[in-house]
This record gives sequence, C-alpha cells and structure tokens, in this order.
Amino acid sequence: MRVEVDQELCISCGACIDLCPDIFDWNENEKAHNIVEEVPSDMEELAHEAVDACPTSAISEE
Ligand code: SF4
Repeated sequence: MRVEVDQELCISCGACIDLCPDIFDWNENEKAHNIVEEVPSDMEELAHEAVDACPTSAISEE
C-alpha cells in the first residue's frame, strides 16, 4: 500500500502525522507528506485511519 498527500488539499491540520508519525511528516511548505514509499503491512490499518481522518480527503491510497 502507498499513500500520497495532495498538496493543494492539505490544510496542515496534523491529524495524519499525529496518527502515523512513521508514515507522514511535515515538509518545507508546512504541509504533510509521506515519508515512506511503501506503508509497512503492520501500519496499513493506521494509514487507513489517517485517510479517513483527513478533513479534506487529501490523502489518497493505492
Ligand atoms: S490530515 Fe489531511 S489536511 Fe491534515 S495534515 Fe494530514 S493531509 Fe493535511
């Protein structure tokens, strides 16, 4: 599983980083971005939670 943050949609609320600090972090534009290419299988459930928690649906998964 992979996740990606749409930089146009991210409003920097921090929910995804709070939930999954090993998957998301802030970038130089103070937006969230993914810090791993491939989400480890034991973190996939958390990553789904982050997708659901994002208030602007900025996180896509594939
Ligand atoms: S939860 Fe969504 S809006 Fe909030 S920081 Fe993460 S990607 Fe941005």
